Amino acid sequence: MNTAGTNRLTFPKLIWMRRQCPLCSSIRFRPAEAEPLDRLFGIFALRPVRCVNCWRRYYWFAKGNG
Ligand SMILES: [Zn+2]
Repeated sequence: MNTAGTNRLTFPKLIWMRRQCPLCSSIRFRPAEAEPLDRLFGIFALRPVRCVNCWRRYYWFAKGNG
């Protein structure tokens, strides 16, 4: 796949509804490694996760339950 010319900042993908990988439909995730940008997203209660199948990085909302 030729992606020449797309030199934009890659915004992290968010998982909104179901915690399912939109790429491989896996529902298994694990916490991603910390990045400096996570501090910013932590303000919005976004947690970095990785799909254990395709190893893509996503963010989802950490719902504090109780
Ligand atoms: Zn995946």
